[in-house]
Amino acid sequence: MKKVSVWNGQYKDIPFEINKFNIGNRDAWTFYLIFREPQFDGDFFESIWLEPKPFTTIKKRTYYDYNSSILGNLNWHGECTWYSKEGGLDGESRRVKAGCDYSHLFDENHIYDVDYVQYEVEKCIDSLLDIVTPLRWCTRCGDFFEYKSDENQCENCTKK
Ligand SMILES: [Zn+2]
Repeated sequence: MKKVSVWNGQYKDIPFEINKFNIGNRDAWTFYLIFREPQFDGDFFESIWLEPKPFTTIKKRTYYDYNSSILGNLNWHGECTWYSKEGGLDGESRRVKAGCDYSHLFDENHIYDVDYVQYEVEKCIDSLLDIVTPLRWCTRCGDFFEYKSDENQCENCTKK
């Protein structure tokens, strides 16, 4: 059994998740961005909904060449080391979960905390927003809408 602490949040309307667990007696950190299909234009989402890489199913895990996709261009801690497809069942929209970890050789003598990881999450999301402009989630009706300034409700809801 292994204990994992999970933080969830959103930054500039992009959901993220931070995990902390232990490897030996050290803290290990990971963070993930969640890409929700309705929030992106179709071409962008299709470009990150990857085909499995053939003949590289290792220990029954499917491998995706995510670092060759646009995900590889984001400002991760190191590089992207996690990719999974989520949702898409029973009419639910699809999501991609992509992330990175803090267990590289160059992390060995560093102590991280959740504030630092969150700071890097925000840098990573900013690097995404340099490439693509996602829709915003309406806090009233739950639809995604194109926004002009910093309104957090869609046009239909603002008129009500
Ligand atoms: Zn609305």
